[in-house]
Amino acid sequence: MTGEELTELRHRRYNATVVYFKLLNPDLMVLRVKPDFPRPQHHPGQYCTLGLGYWERRTVGCQTETLAASEETKVVRRAYSISCSILDEHGALMRLGDNDWLEFYIVLVRENPDGRVPALTPRLFALGEGDRIQIGERITGHYTLDPVKPGDTVIFLGTGTGEAPHNYLTWELLSRGHAGKIFNACCVRYAHDLGYSDTHRHLMAQFPNYKYLALTTREMGVTRKVYIQDLITSGELEEQLGVPLDLATTHVFLCGNPKMIGVPHHDRTTGETTYPKPVGVIEVLESRGFRADIAATKFKGNVHFEEYW
Ligand SMILES: Cc1cc2nc3c(=O)[nH]c(=O)nc-3n(C[C@H](O)[C@H](O)[C@H](O)COP(=O)(O)OP(=O)(O)OC[C@H]3O[C@@H](n4cnc5c(N)ncnc54)[C@H](O)[C@@H]3O)c2cc1C
Repeated sequence: MTGEELTELRHRRYNATVVYFKLLNPDLMVLRVKPDFPRPQHHPGQYCTLGLGYWERRTVGCQTETLAASEETKVVRRAYSISCSILDEHGALMRLGDNDWLEFYIVLVRENPDGRVPALTPRLFALGEGDRIQIGERITGHYTLDPVKPGDTVIFLGTGTGEAPHNYLTWELLSRGHAGKIFNACCVRYAHDLGYSDTHRHLMAQFPNYKYLALTTREMGVTRKVYIQDLITSGELEEQLGVPLDLATTHVFLCGNPKMIGVPHHDRTTGETTYPKPVGVIEVLESRGFRADIAATKFKGNVHFEEYW
């Protein structure tokens, strides 16, 4: 492809600019993107798409990709939850209405031994401030605070960058003076995968009803090796909350790795529910009387989830 063709493709396919790019570790970043159009209306917890042309450079150290000639001028798009840094540089809750950008919290997928070669993140990690990108014009999704009433206990349980929507939802709860308890736990492999941990420390010091718990699975001595499922079955979640889980006034939000979430299959003919193996959080919670949302029937329970793949 000639330089002119590249410039023309970028001009035609991109509609936003990277205004902030921060690597938290070589495989984890916070990205802020300013659309060429006014920031679309949305609710915390929702997502939009980001896209880059297959013609863009991939960062080094990722799985090799072989492209068909017909793909070279196409754009690869993926869904990303809108994230939020929650606090401004003075330690006060951010005034998001003043911003003309959207924040994203993204992990680099270097390889995928079981499926398609990761196409977008190796290209996102080669970006820099000022670079152009494609952003979806619609921000959408059901993963919002709609079902939460004032005074409810809200529990966010995430894996890795599944923390992104939880941070934005936390911002919304704190900004509207939510009186109930807010508990936010995130499970990662290593402590350096916890991109917003300083923010959570500041929040805990400022808001007595807010608690953040970091769980690492591959770093002995930083936290015990605890998966989210174990946190609930062991009773530690209730210990941390300081009260028993009350079905009537608690909403649980699950985001990230589908194995942690464990969405059951509901057989419409037999009415039978089958849970996946290994045991996910939905099975653990439903065995205690909680009910998860069912997308197909639009049933809304007190467990809400967003799977990342
Ligand atoms: C509604 C929604 C919101 C999402 N929000 C985010 C977000 O805020 N931040 C984010 O990093 N990702 C998010 N994702 C995942 C994102 O869409 C991409 O799948 C991911 O960034 C990898 O893109 P890729 O093209 O490099 O690889 P893909 O071809 O999309 O994925 C290849 C494989 O990578 C693994 N994978 C995908 N996403 C992750 C992840 N986040 N952590 C660990 N392994 C993963 C899976 O095994 C997947 O099969 C979201 C997905 C959905 C459906």
